[in-house]
Amino acid sequence: MVETGVRQGGLGPRQPIGMCLPGAIDQDGRVKNSNALWMNEQPLKVDIESRLGRNAVMANDGVCFAVSEAMDGAAKEASMVFGVVLGTGVGGGLAVDGRPWHGAHGLCGEWGHNPFPVRSRADFERLEAELGPVPTCFCGQSLCVETVLRGRALAERYQRLTGRSVEGAQFARLIEQKDADAQTALHRYGLDLARALSVVVNQIDPDVIVLGGGVSDNDGLVSIVSEALPDYIFHAGQVDTRPQPVVRRHVWGDSSGLRGAAWMAQSLSLGSDAPIAST
Ligand SMILES: [Zn+2]
Repeated sequence: MVETGVRQGGLGPRQPIGMCLPGAIDQDGRVKNSNALWMNEQPLKVDIESRLGRNAVMANDGVCFAVSEAMDGAAKEASMVFGVVLGTGVGGGLAVDGRPWHGAHGLCGEWGHNPFPVRSRADFERLEAELGPVPTCFCGQSLCVETVLRGRALAERYQRLTGRSVEGAQFARLIEQKDADAQTALHRYGLDLARALSVVVNQIDPDVIVLGGGVSDNDGLVSIVSEALPDYIFHAGQVDTRPQPVVRRHVWGDSSGLRGAAWMAQSLSLGSDAPIAST
């Protein structure tokens, strides 16, 4: 791809490239926290840079998604943007004034590995009734947000309602056709999504939350979450003055992650006065 970019004249000889990946790059240029476990501890940044002879900006795919949607997507006028990636796993990232916010240990946005907020035994029993036994997460912890909200967990809710198993694309078609069971499953999933996002809102209070990943393409999810979220976030009983966080669907779809990485690489090539900080 890089050779093609150079040949076609769009990529200068010294320009850096941007890459998004699951997990993060540690201070030694090694991958950590990837759900593609084989990548972990591998010197990906060093390998890519030495092979290509140019700098590479690498960042978590959730962070790249947030930057893309904050720069010229669903949240382009917003200052603090929390991007949510609902796919095979559950990821996320924070952009502040268009800049990626990685955190001291590259952990910012990893809300998928917060404990899912269960407030009572009845809550937990409700969850198991809808979803079945919640599996241990790949990260080794139990009851991670990811195990309750990953794409498969939406299909599992439908399967427990109907006895029929579906793939993600089939499920989206059922939603388009206004299938009642699929809508019930999506509604239940959306309430749990709002519940888990309330923990993020109570901590960082973003201007806009942008939903991305395959699950976000189900019609109606944004409005379910928008309606439910005020019930779960802190408001000390003042129902009329509850904060109403803005929740939107992505603009750039599957391309958003790479676009965010490209924005970051462009920032690096333009130097320190660029609109986005380099990584
Ligand atoms: Zn986990």
